[in-house]
Parts: sequence; structure tokens; C-alpha cells
Amino acid sequence: MEKFNRSNEDVYDVAIVGLGPTGLTLAHILGKKGLRVVILEKEPIFYGNARAVYTDDECLRVFQSAGVAEDLHKDMMFDIPVQFTREDGTPIGQYAPTGTQNGWPIVNFLYQPYLETKLSESLSRYPDIKILRGREFRSLTQDQEGVTVYHISSDGTGYGQRPENPRPKDQEDERSVRALFAVGCDGGRSKVREFLNIKLKGKNFPEPWLVVDLKQKNMEMGLRHLPYFNFYCDPNGPVVSCPQPDGYHRFEFRLKAGTSKEYMERPDTIRMLLSKHVNPDHFEVKRRLVYTFNGLVADQWRVRRMLLAGDAAHMTPQFMGQGMSSGIRDAHNLGWKLIEVISGRAGEKLLDTYQSERYFHAKEMILISTLLKDVVSLENKFLAALRDALFKTVKMIPSLYNILREGKFKPKPIYKKGTYFGLPRNSSNLHAGTLMPQPDLQIFDGSIGKMDEIVGNSYALIGQGIDPRKGLSDASLSFLNSLGTKYITIYEKGKRPQGIRGIARNFDPNLSEVEDVYGHLKPWFRKAGYNRGGIVLLRPDKFVFGMAKGSGEALINELERRLDLKSVISNIKTRELAKV
Ligand SMILES: Cc1cc2nc3c(=O)[nH]c(=O)nc-3n(C[C@H](O)[C@H](O)[C@H](O)COP(=O)(O)OP(=O)(O)OC[C@H]3O[C@@H](n4cnc5c(N)ncnc54)[C@H](O)[C@@H]3O)c2cc1C
Repeated sequence: MEKFNRSNEDVYDVAIVGLGPTGLTLAHILGKKGLRVVILEKEPIFYGNARAVYTDDECLRVFQSAGVAEDLHKDMMFDIPVQFTREDGTPIGQYAPTGTQNGWPIVNFLYQPYLETKLSESLSRYPDIKILRGREFRSLTQDQEGVTVYHISSDGTGYGQRPENPRPKDQEDERSVRALFAVGCDGGRSKVREFLNIKLKGKNFPEPWLVVDLKQKNMEMGLRHLPYFNFYCDPNGPVVSCPQPDGYHRFEFRLKAGTSKEYMERPDTIRMLLSKHVNPDHFEVKRRLVYTFNGLVADQWRVRRMLLAGDAAHMTPQFMGQGMSSGIRDAHNLGWKLIEVISGRAGEKLLDTYQSERYFHAKEMILISTLLKDVVSLENKFLAALRDALFKTVKMIPSLYNILREGKFKPKPIYKKGTYFGLPRNSSNLHAGTLMPQPDLQIFDGSIGKMDEIVGNSYALIGQGIDPRKGLSDASLSFLNSLGTKYITIYEKGKRPQGIRGIARNFDPNLSEVEDVYGHLKPWFRKAGYNRGGIVLLRPDKFVFGMAKGSGEALINELERRLDLKSVISNIKTRELAKV
């Protein structure tokens, strides 16, 4: 944990509004670095609303950086294929990715209340994080120094189970918290977004779906015949069947035009729908709910010291299981930037790259999720038959089927050119603005572990078979040291130099030397044109800032320029002057 110099202990570093998956992830990232965080959550009691059922390898890597991935992953079912089937259940295509580029399985099914409970309970390890439950965001004011967030007591809605209970003004018990920055993680109906008058752009989809959450009464009985996730592409009404850990299971049924919500939520209707897939007697219905969904993105994610993240900034149709995952990516992207700005190691301009980097990725996820929904829910029988024939053809062409099986249609963790914090992506900087893969690496004592455990959560300067500090000026080295940079040399398997009799190698405690035992990084370096001597400057979120050959001096100079440290110094001066 880092220690920050604070002049005013009554001011939190960050105030978070909303303790859903986005707020929880952000709190972990900030808490791990020792920031003082206050969280306002309108629900007095945690209920655990099962919505998300899936997350991916990139998000597990985020949880890994927060030190909670192993524990969360224990509750997940992973490497389960996702099938597209005909209405009778005959498979017509499969998504079953085998990639290991992020060090975690790509397909992970979860039970959201388990995930949120663990994330919430493990926040207690950070003494500087304060959670105020039953407190609802009301309004805010901003000035040059920080944000004041006003909040009132709230009975909550039982996470959407009950309608809002508006209080008369005279019963309001308004209080405030003060922070350097505040983040609205208060979900799709964000009051923070509304208060800031930020507009959403995109589409509301009117077609209603019925969600039925089940729990098996006897773990052996109910689901043996349904080992996989299924999209039943039935022109009479598509159905989604989602496996979940611990005997939970979800079905989603698209309502036919003209069917009423009341009819769909009736127990006999649910029994009739379920009995096409499982024996309803083997299950307890935990929840049934008719809902519609949205594909919307806020047009502004930052208003001075106030930011939006998660569903407050974008809403994603759930078909790719990427709504919560997009929020987790936001928290990761924003978290390190807030840490660097608050610690005085970067100018506030860095925060503008949060929206510019995340916006297009979030939008692409919405587009692909909408496309997937359209593919699985074709009503026109002729078009549905055409789709099934297309699946059949694709299956016969291995290179095409590979795109489906490996999920190559999914937006990659690559920031759009011209939008990200890093050097321009070109032939000598091919990986700039992309997430570096996470292979297993071997350290000197023979143990093997995930790369990010060695890299840590600060900047890293990595040399391909060389000391990455080679050729750096004293000024650049001391600048990197001030950022807490980690220095790493990655050798190919068997290429680590060793001391010989009479010529012992000096052990340098500031350099981590590791071996790429499975050779996963070699093709990654090669693709960018580096056989040996490549230097990679990695941002704290493991995205590549830039690459160079032989010496990283130019990279470091560019990093220093882009961090806009002059503005930090002038800002501090302004604050001092304002106090006088
Ligand atoms: C049926 C369904 C299936 C889904 N499946 C998936 C999936 O498989 N994978 C996936 O990644 N995503 C999925 N999603 C989407 C996912 O659930 C959401 O994207 C995710 O929960 C958003 O997280 P969040 O923290 O941004 O917002 P939320 O989860 O909405 O949390 C917001 C929090 O803020 C609190 N709050 C709200 N207003 C205030 C206020 N004024 N003051 C204080 N606190 C406030 C709320 O009580 C809540 O705790 C699914 C959604 C649905 C509906």
C-alpha cells in the first residue's frame, strides 16, 4: 500500500456513488493503493440481485490486479461451451474458446450475489474505505479543489423489488461528503448522470423478455442433460439457458408480441415454458421478471471532478454477457488514472483519456451484443432457415468456424488509434494501446506464476533479454523511480545467463529476471518486429504505452511529456494560493 501526503484528512480522495459490481471493483483498485474512499449506497441491506451470469478472462485479470480473482473464481464454472441450437436443442454451432492469452479461462459462469458478496466483504481489508449504506445521492457541487456530494437516508427498493418510497422534504436528513473526485457508479438509472444533465445516445429495445432464475432442489437430478449454455434459436420464441454454479440456472424467454407481462409471470405459464427444457418439479423458482433492455452510451463521462462508470455510462444488451464486464473494464481504466492524478504523478488531463479509451470499446460491445440478439431471435422462418444453413456452411470451413469457436468476433482490448494514452500505433509500435498478454513466467527459484504478479500495479519497463534500464539517462531513471516503476527482463526459455566460476553475476534487487517458459511472448515480440532487445513500457493497467529497440530513453521522455507534470505543479501552486 502506498502512503499519500494529505493536507486535509476530512477530504476523501474519491467518493463512489453506488456499490454494484462497478463501484466494488473501483473501490478495490483504489483501496489496494491506500486511497481514502467513501461509498454511498442507497440500499440499506445487501440483497444480491442475480443479473450477470458470465464474465471473461479480461475481467478476471482485473480482479487479479485487485487481489481477489482466485477467491472469486472458486465460485465460477469455467470453460463451458456456448451453443447455438435449433428449437429442439440440436446444436448448430459452438463458441468454445481455447485461448489463454490473459492467463484465465475466457468463459466463466457465475452467480452475481456470490461475486458481489465476496467483493463487498473483502473491502473490509482496507481501513481507509468507508461504506455508508442506506444513503442516497441527492446532488453535488464542484469547485477547483474537489466535489461535495449531498446524500439523504434511503429505504432502498430491495434492489428493484419494491417501488421507490419518496420522502417528504421535511423528513430528509441531508448530509454531505467531500472528496477530490467522485464517480457515479449508480447503475442504468443513474441520478448522478441525471443531475449532471448528461444525455444517453442509442436505442431502447421494446421487445420484452422473461427471466426465470431457478435453484435445483436435488443437485443430481435436474440439469444433467443441459451441460452447456444454450441459445435456442427458435423462430417461435428464442430461449436462453444459462448454467450457473451451485445448482442455480437461468432461463430467458422472449415474449411473443401481444403477450402480457402478467400472463408471462403467472406460475402456470412459467411451468409450461420450463417443462419444454427441464422437469419443473426439480427446481425452486427464485425469481421471475419481465424486462426490456437498452443499448445506450452517455455522451459525456467526465464533468470536471465528477465521472461516470459502469451502467451509469453505458447500458449493454445482455446477450454477450458484457454489461457488468464493461463496468469492470471502466473501473480498471479509471482506477489507475485517479491514483496517478491524486498522487501528483500525472496531470488531470490523463482523466480525459478515460472516456476516449473506453467509449468505443463499450459501444462496440453494445453493437455486437445487439447483433447476437438479432441472430438468435430471427422470427421469419425463411431467414431463420437461412441462418441455420449458414451455420452449417461455416462449420464445414475450419478457418471460418474458428472465428465462431474462438470468439474472434468479440471486440478486442485494443484502443482506437488517436484515442489512448500512449504512443501512436504503427509498424514499429504495433502493440501500443493494446493489452499485453499474460503468460506464465518462471522466476529464479523455478516457481511459475502469472505475469501480472511480477509486474504489479504500477508502470513496468520490460526488456526482451536485456536490462530495460540500459541506455537510460540518470534523469529518466529517477523519473521512472518516482513513478514506482518495476524493471523486468524476460528471457526466452533456457537463455537466462548464469554466473560462472570466478565471474559471479551481481544480484540486482531492483531487477526481476524471468523466463518465458512456454514461449508465449516470443511470437508477441516477433509480431512487432523484435527478435531481441525490445523494450516495452507498460501502463499500470497492463496496456502498452509504447515499444522501442535497445533503449527506452525516447519512450520515457514521451511518457513524461504526456503526463503533463507541469500542470500538476502549477495546480498545486494554485491550490496553495487559493488557501491563503
Ligand atoms: C437479465 C440480465 C442479465 C445480465 N447478464 C449479464 C452477464 O451475463 N454479464 C454481464 O457482464 N452483465 C450482465 N448483465 C448486466 C449487469 O448486470 C450490469 O451491467 C451490472 O450489474 C452493472 O453494474 P453497475 O455496478 O454499473 O450498476 P448496478 O449493478 O446497477 O449497481 C448500481 C448500484 O448503485 C446503487 N444506487 C443506485 N442509485 C443510487 C443513488 N441515487 N444513490 C446511491 N446508490 C445508488 C444501487 O442500489 C446499486 O447497488 C445482465 C443484466 C440483466 C438485466
